[in-house]
Amino acid sequence: MKIMKIGFAIVAIASLFYGSALRARVQPSNTPVERVAHMQREYAAVNETYFNGSLPENIIITYEKDPDGDVDAMGSTSCDGDICVINIVPSWNPAETTMDETLIHEMVHVSFRHPKDENEKIENATHGPAFQKRMKELADEGAFNGIW
Ligand SMILES: [Zn+2]
Repeated sequence: MKIMKIGFAIVAIASLFYGSALRARVQPSNTPVERVAHMQREYAAVNETYFNGSLPENIIITYEKDPDGDVDAMGSTSCDGDICVINIVPSWNPAETTMDETLIHEMVHVSFRHPKDENEKIENATHGPAFQKRMKELADEGAFNGIW
C-alpha cells in the first residue's frame, strides 16, 4: 500500500512537472473523424498562439490519401482565393504527434498563401530559406513542444 502511494505521488509530481513544460494539448484522437476534429482544434490553437490569429478561420482539413496521388507527400495545402484545404496523409502520420507536426508545416504554407512577390511564391512551393526560417522561429517559440 505504501509503495502504491509513493508510486502515485511520483506519477502526480512527474505529471505536474511534465505538464508545465508543455503547452496545452488537445484531447487524444483515434478515428479519422476524431483526428480531423483534433486537427481543427489544433489549427485554431496554433493559429491563435503562434500566428496571432492571422491564418484563415475557415480552413478545410482532410485526413486521407494525397489528393494529387503523390505517394511521398505527408501533407499538402492548396488554396483557392481565401479558402485553403490542408490534407494530412494517414499512412505517413499514424501518430498524433506526427500529424500535429505535419499540420504546423502546412500552416506555414497557408501563412504564405498571398505572396507579395515572386520570390515568396517560390518559397511557398519549395520550402526555401523563408520557409525554413519560419519553421525555426516556430520551434524557438515552442510550437513543437511535446510534438518532437
Ligand atoms: Zn511543405
